[in-house]
Amino acid sequence: MFCSSCGTENAAGARFCAKCGTALATTAPAPAAPEPITTVRTSSPAAVATVSPTGKQPWLALVLSLVIIGVGQLYNNDWKKALAMFVGAILGIYLTAGIATFAIWIWSMVDAYRVASGSGKVW
Ligand SMILES: [Zn+2]
Repeated sequence: MFCSSCGTENAAGARFCAKCGTALATTAPAPAAPEPITTVRTSSPAAVATVSPTGKQPWLALVLSLVIIGVGQLYNNDWKKALAMFVGAILGIYLTAGIATFAIWIWSMVDAYRVASGSGKVW
């Protein structure tokens, strides 16, 4: 079956997603089954990061901006920011010998990840 949260395919009968830890709907649900009190389920930060309220994939957005500055913003439908980053990156090559371009590149990657994960704002 497929995880409703991240789409990863899991073995039939698996109770939790192997990738993100989300509880899976089983074909034979047993809601009355008591959970052991001593068991405290924790999810790792990486697992939390793969679940986004925006429906975007933060890591995909980051990689897109890694390849080309601003593309991660386009993926986030953040075209004004994408344009600003793209123009800034071009100008940075001529005006700052690439120093500003490098800074914008880092910003583009971090921002793409943050916006896609819902913790950053679209312009
Ligand atoms: Zn999952």
